[in-house]
Amino acid sequence: MLTASRVRDLAAHTGDPAVASVYLDVDGRHRPVWADCVTAFDHLADQLVRRAAQRGDLSLSRSVDGDVARMRAWLQAGVDRERTRGVALFACAEQDYFEAVEVPAPLRDDAGVGAVPRVGPLVALLDGRRRALVALVDRRRLRVLRSELGEVSEVLAAEDPEPRAVDTSVEVGSFERHDGEAAEVHYRRAAGLVEQACRDAAPDHVLVAGPDDAVAGLTRHLPPPVAATVAGRLHLATTAGPAEVAAAVDGIEDAVDRARRAAVVEQLMARAGADDGGVLGIEHVLHALAAGKVGTLVVADGFGVAGSSCPSCGALHAGAAGGPCPVCGAELVACDDVVAAAVARSVAANASVVVCPAGELDAAAGGIGALERW
Ligand SMILES: [Zn+2]
Repeated sequence: MLTASRVRDLAAHTGDPAVASVYLDVDGRHRPVWADCVTAFDHLADQLVRRAAQRGDLSLSRSVDGDVARMRAWLQAGVDRERTRGVALFACAEQDYFEAVEVPAPLRDDAGVGAVPRVGPLVALLDGRRRALVALVDRRRLRVLRSELGEVSEVLAAEDPEPRAVDTSVEVGSFERHDGEAAEVHYRRAAGLVEQACRDAAPDHVLVAGPDDAVAGLTRHLPPPVAATVAGRLHLATTAGPAEVAAAVDGIEDAVDRARRAAVVEQLMARAGADDGGVLGIEHVLHALAAGKVGTLVVADGFGVAGSSCPSCGALHAGAAGGPCPVCGAELVACDDVVAAAVARSVAANASVVVCPAGELDAAAGGIGALERW
C-alpha cells in the first residue's frame, strides 16, 4: 500500500550513479491487453537508455541498462490488474536498488533518470486522493464504506428494526410519532457508529448520502469534531455498490481537491507578492530548499527543467552542469530534471508538496513556488 512514509523513504534514496524511474499506466480500462502495457514500457525504457547515452557516461549507461532489465523482469512476473492500475518502478542496478510500487489508481506513463527517485506522481496521487469514509443512511439502515486511493471497501452495515404498526390502533398519529422517535434513535446510534469508524480509520474527511431527513438526522447527532470533517454529500442509494460509490467519491474528491489546491496557489501568490515567506521560480525555490526553509512546495503538473546537482553537498542548481558548486566547490553533474529532484528533496525533508494543474501556476510564478516554514 502506498503511504506517505513509503514515499518519504523512496525520496530519501540517493542513487549512484543515478536512479531510473518509470511510471506505467496498467489500467485495464486504458490498456485492455497486457501486451499494450509491455509496448508502453519498451517505449519508456528506450527513452531512459537514450537519455543515459546522451550524457556520454559509460557507467551511467551500464547502470540504466541494468535498471531496464530488472524492471522488465519484474513486469514479466505479471501484475494483478484487478487491483493495480498504476505501477511505479525505481532502480539503480549498480547499488542493487529496486523498488516497485503498485497503486489502485492510474498513473501517467513517465520515465526519467536522476540522482533520486522521481516521486512527484506518487506525491500527487497521495495528496489528491484522500482517505474518505462514506456514510449511507436512511431511516432504518446505515452503511459505512471506506475509500482510499480510489479503492472502496465496506466497513459496516447496521439496521434498526421497523417500528411495530400495532401502535396505530391506540391513538391517531401515534404511529407517526413512534416512527419518528424510532428514526431518531436510529440516527443517534448511526452517528455513534460513524464516530467509531472515524476513530478506527482516521479518514481525511467524511462524505454522506441518503434522503434529506436521514442526512440531517445523522448529522444532528455527530459529535462536532466528526461533523467538522463532513466534506460533502453524495447522491447515492443506501444499496449502492462499491463501483457506484467509487465514482461518486471521485467526483466530489476532484471538486474538494481543486478548491484546496487553488487556495494554496492563492496563498502562495499573496505571500510572494507581499514578500512574506513565499517565493516563486526555480532559482528562489532551490535557494529556499538548500536553506531548509521550504514548508510547502507548489509545482505545476508536468513542469520540469534541466539543471545540475552537486554530488558532494547535494545542492541543486537550475543552471547547466560544468563548473564548481557555488556552495562547496565540487564539480557539478548534469541533472535531467531538477524539479523532480526538488520534489524528492522536499518530501524527504517532510515538507508538503502540492502538485497543481499546469495552468494554475502561470507564467508569473514560473511553474514552481514555495511557502516557507513559519
Ligand atoms: Zn556542493
